[in-house]
Amino acid sequence: MSTPTCLYCQRPQPEQAVACTDCGMPLPTDRPQQRRLQRFFWFCIALAVFCAVMMVWLPRSV
Ligand SMILES: [Zn+2]
Repeated sequence: MSTPTCLYCQRPQPEQAVACTDCGMPLPTDRPQQRRLQRFFWFCIALAVFCAVMMVWLPRSV
């Protein structure tokens, strides 16, 4: 896993850090990021399915 990086001072932070050890700003937790990534993953799946359906449904222009 990648170590968290402060969004404000761009310094690498220890993995369990809740706030930046340099500037004290709160660090983003991993869970919301993972959930957002999962949502993006499902969006890509839906887009792929949509494209596949369209390829079958629409007449082929060759
Ligand atoms: Zn910082």
